[in-house]
Amino acid sequence: MSFFPKISLRPEVTDYLKGVFLNNELLASIGLQEAERHFETLLTCLSHPPSSTCVRASVHLAPLGEIRHKLCEELKKVNRQQKEELQVVPHPMVPDVLLLPVDGPRSVQQLSKEVVVGAQCGNAVLRGAHVFAPGMLACPKHMKAGDMVSVFSDLEGKCTRGALSFHGKRVFVGNGVAEKDRSSIFCSGEPARGVGVRMTEPLYATPSFDGLLPRLVFLQNLPSVVVGHVLGPRPGERILDMCAAPGGKTCHIATLMRDQGDVVALERISNKMELIRQNAEMLQLRCIKAFCFNSTRAVSEHSNPEAEEPPFPPESFDRILLDAPCSGLGQRPNMASTWSLKEICSFAPLQRKLFHAAVQLLKKGGVLVYSTCTVTLAENEEQVAWALRTFPCLKLQPQEPHIGAEGMAGAGLAPEQLCLLQRFRPELSWGQVDVGASLPCRANSDTIGFFIAKFQKT
Ligand code: SAM
Repeated sequence: MSFFPKISLRPEVTDYLKGVFLNNELLASIGLQEAERHFETLLTCLSHPPSSTCVRASVHLAPLGEIRHKLCEELKKVNRQQKEELQVVPHPMVPDVLLLPVDGPRSVQQLSKEVVVGAQCGNAVLRGAHVFAPGMLACPKHMKAGDMVSVFSDLEGKCTRGALSFHGKRVFVGNGVAEKDRSSIFCSGEPARGVGVRMTEPLYATPSFDGLLPRLVFLQNLPSVVVGHVLGPRPGERILDMCAAPGGKTCHIATLMRDQGDVVALERISNKMELIRQNAEMLQLRCIKAFCFNSTRAVSEHSNPEAEEPPFPPESFDRILLDAPCSGLGQRPNMASTWSLKEICSFAPLQRKLFHAAVQLLKKGGVLVYSTCTVTLAENEEQVAWALRTFPCLKLQPQEPHIGAEGMAGAGLAPEQLCLLQRFRPELSWGQVDVGASLPCRANSDTIGFFIAKFQKT
């Protein structure tokens, strides 16, 4: 599994992360050798995609078994040439999840015609997507629709759009068929749209979900689906999702409430807020009300207690999800991050401001779930320790389901507190889980890096 490089980070960021994973508390419990092994494994597994694809089924629209059957039928149509039927397996602990295996890295012969795509596009290809024209940066002068091409991901964002070739730091992600001529991608005067390269031999093979049963299945990482269940919304409740776009978790919350009650979704960026509305509409969820709003300002003592729009008076919500903006260092695959340490450290103060608003907006007895898709202590366990010190009304709660590991030592939390936290740590078992193990077993350990804490306001 090692022909991909480890994630490339700025040296200052690598040193910082090393300090996190080799902190004194952790060294005292597992020792230097084990801590070093976890850290090096983390850097390697971050640059690879997880070994399964997870989709959340719209069980408010049809039973899981029926959705699974329809999905298998659709996949058969799309993959006619494939001899073996694709596995689609329900998750035994998460009732609305279906898992599909990812086959890779496979041995794929590189071709002479090369297309270079942006890193985000390259990462999507490694998770089963085709190449969309806006993600294309370079392609040969005479590339025509129908040409077989090799696709490379530009790791450092150095390839200029419209280039003929690029030989900077790049990684091969598979072969495909060009669906457009070069001229229609770069020279038509209008931004190119649609599929630019249809992947036929991806390095990691798993179905593309573009346009596949869009109302019935929603691509979502397993830990993100777990968050909705941990929050535990019930029909008729009033829920706030403070940082909601593109709305994957908002829609899940509304689904779990069988579309009965109120789900208020706030998002600071207006274009992104529109995505929440589009997703809610597509999934036929009417109880979602999305607003473009800065959640740090979402509390007002002077608001009408019946306020339907932000800002809201204190103690307005039964449950609150704070899926915080974060440094995103748990995302997979991620072959390179150019972020500075200053940028990475800029999230913790914002998360604390959001936390202040969340605690005020929560009713007494209500539930607050805090989550991030990053691996630092500062944005995870240290935020929990800070929150427990700052808001004596908050008590940590057990989580259901609890699939990930417990919280990581290093923030001064007691062992019984760490047990209540859920940290998805792919580095703990990466490369050790047998390929013969069941798909749910592999899916549980080989996830993105993710963190969940659940509190109740007493
Ligand atoms: N919960 C989302 C989902 O599952 O689809 C993902 C949320 S993402 C981790 C964080 C989001 O918070 C981003 O879309 C970002 O624009 C938004 N955001 C950042 N600061 C915010 C603020 N002060 N108020 C509201 N939204 C904010």
